[in-house]
Amino acid sequence: MIKKILLIDLDGVLNEYNGSYDKNFIPKIKKGAKSFLKKLNNEYELHLYTTRNLLLASKWLIENDLDKFFKDVTNIKTPAYLYIDDRTVCFSGDYEKTIEDVRNFQVYWK
Ligand SMILES: [Mg+2]
Repeated sequence: MIKKILLIDLDGVLNEYNGSYDKNFIPKIKKGAKSFLKKLNNEYELHLYTTRNLLLASKWLIENDLDKFFKDVTNIKTPAYLYIDDRTVCFSGDYEKTIEDVRNFQVYWK
């Protein structure tokens, strides 16, 4: 069975990112992240998406015992069934609503 691909963002989704970006350090794993990935991994093929250095991100996955859940680590928005990201607006077909959503957007961790 071919699993649908989910492209999952790193910062703010799988870790405790709070907006203070340090290119050499990835914040600690977010509580519940491992079980979240384990559940999704049963039904979907998971790819990690990050703008960070891919070697650093891969090391972080291994250190947190999460590497087994991912088929790929990429900094390119590759084709996927869905994207899971903390900084996104879901387009529902309504441009005016989308403009409002952009203007009113707030990340959950702020
Ligand atoms: Mg993010």
